[in-house]
Amino acid sequence: MIVCKFGGTSVGTADRLKELARLVNSDEDKIVVLSAMAGTTNALVEIAELLYDKQNDKAISSIQALEQNYYRVVEELYTVSEVKEKAKEMVESHFNYIQAFTEDLFTIHEEKAVLAQGELLSTALFHYYLEELGVPSILISALDFMRIDKDGEPDSYYIKENLSRELKQKKSNEIVITQGFICRNTFGEIDNLKRGGSDYSASLIGVAVAAEEVQIWTDIDGIHNNDPRYVEGTQSIAYLSYDEAAELAYFGAKILHPASIQPSKKAKIPVRLKNTMEPQDEGTLIGLEIKGAGIKSIAAKDSITVIKIKSGRMLLAHGFMRKIFEIFEVYKTSIDMVTTSEVAVSITIDDAQYLDEIVEELEKLGNVEVDKQMSIICIVGNFIDESRGHALEIFSALKEVPIRMISYGGSRHNVSILVETNYKKQALNILNENLFCNV
Ligand code: ASP
Repeated sequence: MIVCKFGGTSVGTADRLKELARLVNSDEDKIVVLSAMAGTTNALVEIAELLYDKQNDKAISSIQALEQNYYRVVEELYTVSEVKEKAKEMVESHFNYIQAFTEDLFTIHEEKAVLAQGELLSTALFHYYLEELGVPSILISALDFMRIDKDGEPDSYYIKENLSRELKQKKSNEIVITQGFICRNTFGEIDNLKRGGSDYSASLIGVAVAAEEVQIWTDIDGIHNNDPRYVEGTQSIAYLSYDEAAELAYFGAKILHPASIQPSKKAKIPVRLKNTMEPQDEGTLIGLEIKGAGIKSIAAKDSITVIKIKSGRMLLAHGFMRKIFEIFEVYKTSIDMVTTSEVAVSITIDDAQYLDEIVEELEKLGNVEVDKQMSIICIVGNFIDESRGHALEIFSALKEVPIRMISYGGSRHNVSILVETNYKKQALNILNENLFCNV
């Protein structure tokens, strides 16, 4: 069994859905996990915001505009009139469901139920299309097996038990279709695995069915050695270990959801990143083995805030760091980079939701300075060869770039550098030239 996940652009138009049908129509036993059509989740988020704000008229017109897009897709996708009718009714019922929230109180639970409609729509449209083509398939709702516990963590036991029950309905030649992203919580309410969570769904499903491989299909041929949005001539990497891929996914390589590596790593299931546009390309394979040495890829993460706490009280004192870290813990804010001197600590965070509260608390411990608009440049590879460091090549390349923080040695797979976002493009390009082009 393989699990293949297709993102929003792969199901974004009637033509892409048609291509997708060609791509998945093979004898291989598979579960196809789909995102919502590109743009839908964002549109649903906006609708939810309007409903929170009680701007119900605006919400209704946004709901209707989105609904019309779906009728256009239905017109373009199907040829058989009965299938068209059935699909229109299905679309209508999902939008009636959303519309009903304009008449009622709107809370976080309703928001999640609204967001779930995107994946429910895309999977149903695709299922009807395979039916029209005569390709045997079965649609299983993720709401019947995907579940998170009270801490928001996937409940693997529940997922495995319930998915295997659902899969009993499947005939041997049927392609299984299900939704990414959506799930239920411990109260049985509709919930989700957070934005971009379809990759995570695929990985969890892969573990539950002990898949041979989890494939994440996107619009690019795997993970590149640098960010193709800012650097020309980047190249796809054939193989990465789980740890290397996790560092890259977390630090900016947008292609993969950071949490999605962990379940596959634990169950030793290979993850392959493939390109829907070039299906014959091998893409990037992610596995257990650590292969090859040296620097493999560079990624950047934006919207980083750095907080510096300076205090004479820190000198020769113990327990000072704990006090600082506890404040971040209270506000459930995770820290990415830390550097210290004897009298100061600099800490970076990417979630600045509680920044004001955190700063207020930290000010009780010392002088606090905050800088926003920073980027972490993350250099990933296998730095296993102790006799050879990589600092010289990295930092001589960056001699023109003002560096705010450096984290070296935290793991054998990552060197992180903090720069102002203005310098990000320059840093990525210079590193690319020096680390990959001169060798
Ligand atoms: N549709 C969801 C989102 O846009 C989940 C996903 O695509 O992975 O975040």
